[in-house]
Amino acid sequence: MIPPPPAQPANESLRARVRRVLPRVKTPAQYVGGEPYAVVKDHAAVDVTIALAFPDAYSIGMSHLGLKILYEILNRRSDCAAERAFTPWIDMEAEMRREGLPLYSLETFTPLREFDVVGFSLQYEGCATNILTMLDLGGIPLRAADREDSDPIVIAGGSGAFEPEPLAPFIDLFVLGDGEDAVVQLVEMLKDSRRAGLSRRDTLKSIASRLTGFYAPAFYEPRYRPDGTVESIDAIEDGLPKVVSPAVLLSIEDAVTPTAPVQPLVETVHDRIQVEVMRGCTQGCRFCQAGMIKRPLRFRSREKVVEIAKEAVEKTGNEEMAFTSLSTSDYPGIVSLMQAATTEFAGRSVSINLPSLRVDKTFQKLPAFVGTVRKSGLTLAPEVARDELRRRINKNIKNEDLYDGVRAAFTQGWDLVKLYFMIGLPGEVPADLDGIVEMAYKVSAIGKEVSGKPARVHCGISLFVPKPFTPYQWDAMDSRETFRAKMAHIQRQRVGNHVRFNFHHVDESYIEAILSRGDRRVADAIERAYRLGARFDAWSETFDIAKWDRAFRETGLDPDFYAYRERREDEFLPWDHVSGGVTKEFLLDERHKSMAETTTENCEWGRCFRCGVDIKECWDEKARLGITPALINKSKKAGLEAPFFD
Ligand code: SF4
Repeated sequence: MIPPPPAQPANESLRARVRRVLPRVKTPAQYVGGEPYAVVKDHAAVDVTIALAFPDAYSIGMSHLGLKILYEILNRRSDCAAERAFTPWIDMEAEMRREGLPLYSLETFTPLREFDVVGFSLQYEGCATNILTMLDLGGIPLRAADREDSDPIVIAGGSGAFEPEPLAPFIDLFVLGDGEDAVVQLVEMLKDSRRAGLSRRDTLKSIASRLTGFYAPAFYEPRYRPDGTVESIDAIEDGLPKVVSPAVLLSIEDAVTPTAPVQPLVETVHDRIQVEVMRGCTQGCRFCQAGMIKRPLRFRSREKVVEIAKEAVEKTGNEEMAFTSLSTSDYPGIVSLMQAATTEFAGRSVSINLPSLRVDKTFQKLPAFVGTVRKSGLTLAPEVARDELRRRINKNIKNEDLYDGVRAAFTQGWDLVKLYFMIGLPGEVPADLDGIVEMAYKVSAIGKEVSGKPARVHCGISLFVPKPFTPYQWDAMDSRETFRAKMAHIQRQRVGNHVRFNFHHVDESYIEAILSRGDRRVADAIERAYRLGARFDAWSETFDIAKWDRAFRETGLDPDFYAYRERREDEFLPWDHVSGGVTKEFLLDERHKSMAETTTENCEWGRCFRCGVDIKECWDEKARLGITPALINKSKKAGLEAPFFD
């Protein structure tokens, strides 16, 4: 049974003023709070108040698992109140500015400036200007240097914290790595600081010098060379780490998982139960930042996954579920997990999705279980279509496995396959573009073999951005002209309606590259773009390259310098003062292996390549699941890739 909405707290006057503007905006229900399972606390009864600020629309932020986890962890504590805030859509922002309404939390309608902490989740670069919108509307000075003791501490976590410099002037503390323990330590430190009567500055310094994973940019100073590259970014006070290490949660088995998260009042992108089955990925795809910064690999046991899933279905009544991770088919014993889950939910119309399937031998067994109710479309990410480029990017899958897998899926009744590709990767040749077209039509033809009519194949094609903390972090990005020519080449080969090619936006990818690879000077362009009206830059309908072009012009920055330039291998990179876990030597070695078309096997089942994360932690976690060197050897002798648990 879903409980009724929580009792509404104080701040009625702001609530009433907000209500007056709602008839004039789209989807007003996203601005009113009061959802089932929202937690409303009396701020006077807690020590620390935290606004969890998601710098995108409610419909996106409410689907984000990380936000739900932090909300649950913080609100389980009696000394803490955590509330949610999202970026108001452009019409609502205009109304709020017209009426002088501050941005507020959905639980208690408290303006953001009244919280002790405002914590942003950084999931993609296109949210940069939305952060400024939220700070500005929330009544908080944009620049950390302008904040006073009475202002909230502005923190930012998530994968974007590993590319901190373009946002550094706006953020007091970045949180690198796993947030679960880090936020708890933060709350304790804030309480201690308050008891000790520390100033804002001393509080920030104390956190950055004593807690793992916290980077306070105000205490680090970049120096630049005459050629515009960064010479160094050094701590300017004693006691701070030279390189900031990420926080690592050693096990996710008993990590807090919300089984009754806030139930949204409006449609969201993913309205489903999410159970994290695994964190990290050691496949070692060389373009993938998440696979590098989320090591070591950690697992949740099958029993625990099913227990969480059962509880979540009972509490929310939601019958859509996803077993999430970066690559769920790498989960040891994925077939038996799916068998256990389908047995548990037998007779109920619960649909289980594996949103990140890898194309390998295991995959062929999965279509029978996945999305047992709605055959809405099988999503696969071959990334590239030819083996040479696959070896370069270390995506060790085979076309034949993909074809066998989709054949199995079509036999089970699926009729739509979504394939994700990337163009512009280092080492790509024209044949790789043609290979994408061939693969799409081949998959469609397999559908015809099985069902008598060509299967629908939708290809999502993204444009490669070389990201920090990947082996390609030194590489140049294709120019916008080159991308446009490649896209036209693919599009020209399309015949009929059953195969579609959808490309990511060229200009958006260009800005993404600058915001991820940039240094601290890029902050001026972000602020200028914001003041020129840039909003929701991850949304094609609102993204406006003209505003960004003008912002770069007016701030005197050369955007091509950040997007297109190949970095020297001995160059200090603007993120070298923070650590993603893996070492620069490992990434460089992987870059050279890419050039030589040499692969690196998945260390989940193979030997350790000493990537830089704690080897003992890795092997302790594998041992917990019974994965030992002896078992790996036995499995390899039997010619198995991984699925010996099934
Ligand atoms: S330490 Fe070794 S086993 Fe662990 S993730 Fe790195 S390469 Fe793999």
